[in-house]
Amino acid sequence: MGKISEVMDILGKHFDVSRRTTLNRMRESGNPDAFKILIGCLVSINIKDEVCEKILDELFERAGSFEELLEINDDDLERILYLARYRRVKSERLKSVCREVLERFDGCVPSNREDLLSIKGIGPKTCNVVLSFAFDKKVIPVDSNTVRISNRLGWIDTEKHEDVEKLLVESLDGDRLRGANAIFMLHGKDICVPVSPFCSKCPVNEICLKKGVEKSR
Ligand code: SF4
Repeated sequence: MGKISEVMDILGKHFDVSRRTTLNRMRESGNPDAFKILIGCLVSINIKDEVCEKILDELFERAGSFEELLEINDDDLERILYLARYRRVKSERLKSVCREVLERFDGCVPSNREDLLSIKGIGPKTCNVVLSFAFDKKVIPVDSNTVRISNRLGWIDTEKHEDVEKLLVESLDGDRLRGANAIFMLHGKDICVPVSPFCSKCPVNEICLKKGVEKSR
């Protein structure tokens, strides 16, 4: 089994960083806006990145703050979210999060886990995206790609997201940790896919334990 940092370096060289997700690109822009990161993350849940980017382009043209987003009427907001599944639910959630940030935090996105998780509609993954992407905290958003790949590589033997996060935070330094989310996302989408991964073209094939992989290509 390769060391976690070495494996991440190999994977990082393999993937084209310009293909990072919309949220990752927002972070790389140099001056991440906590409002946009939080709203972007809520919009991105369960939709493809290409769709998310289109929606966010239009949404952020209309709203650059929580107040402005609340000024968009419900029908308009649902129209902007037209490509998203459950757009009514998503639209209501966006507005309730905006209201709560304004009422409880004076319009400033909290920079700590406890306050973020106390906002209705913000779960652990969104919380970590905000902490990592907007405030550069030493955390990593963990999703199903991250858990699957970490298990297959033999780094850990658990489905618990918090245990995977702990391992990665302890094992990766600043820049590696910052870049890891995009790498897991690209690797999980292109090569280490959920069913029958493409091990024959994987850059870490030689050092991967392939735990739990019954069939590969
Ligand atoms: S060798 Fe196969 S199981 Fe291991 S990381 Fe690569 S694609 Fe995934």
